[in-house]
Amino acid sequence: MSFWICATCAVEHAEQVEVCAICADERQWVPADGQQWTTLEELAAAGYRVKVKEVEPDLYGVTSEPGAGIGQQSMLVRTSEGNLLWDPIGYLDDDAVQAVRELGDVAAVIASHPHMFGVQVEWSRRLGGVPVYVSEADASWIARPDPVIQTWSGTLDLLPGVTLIQPGGHFPGSAVVHWAAGADGKGVILAGDTIFANPDRTSVSFMRSYPNRIPLSGAVVDRVAKSLDVFEYDRLYGNFGGSIPVDARQVVRFSADRHAAWARGDYDHLT
Ligand SMILES: [Zn+2]
Repeated sequence: MSFWICATCAVEHAEQVEVCAICADERQWVPADGQQWTTLEELAAAGYRVKVKEVEPDLYGVTSEPGAGIGQQSMLVRTSEGNLLWDPIGYLDDDAVQAVRELGDVAAVIASHPHMFGVQVEWSRRLGGVPVYVSEADASWIARPDPVIQTWSGTLDLLPGVTLIQPGGHFPGSAVVHWAAGADGKGVILAGDTIFANPDRTSVSFMRSYPNRIPLSGAVVDRVAKSLDVFEYDRLYGNFGGSIPVDARQVVRFSADRHAAWARGDYDHLT
């Protein structure tokens, strides 16, 4: 056994510590019965399996059943120059690696923010030691350091038509990916929960903490929305299977303005 997985958030750790720092942070939670650690072997024995499904042409969702940790959906984007594995899940096995490899060579593994680190180093190792990019601003959350990890900040041209952007907000390094060829060439944003795709499919949210409901200021939300202004996109995918199927650019702008207006008190008469 070479590493440990936090049973609550499914982020890999080189060593067991008293409590997972990601879970102990005000944005997450430690379960009432305390810190629990697990391993890939234990999860496999418990019946965990990985599912890969097409979301749209050249975009695949990768999930585990049951959901490891907080149960995110990874996204695999295919390009002619290699693929991107985004928000890697906290579980893998031989079948999962084979299914991902069958879709083409992975060129990079990237999480939108530390809650989505999953077993990112393990994915890299099993996919040939490809780079794992971690935002410089969030590098202190890395619990399994490894030479495959490279830090970045600002904007990174990853692959043809695939750009990594750092709007921040939820975490200082919170990132999104712009994929120009997505949505039939109208453009896609893979938002993680830097921008959260709401269940109504026509609005998004921006929070410091989603489970503990800690808000961001109107100014920060405006900055996050503005950071995407230079990109054309029509669709947005969140990290838990939610999406804004159409008009996502307008939805992000409208939702940021609505957030700022509520935070400012414009609608206090409705409360
Ligand atoms: Zn944790």
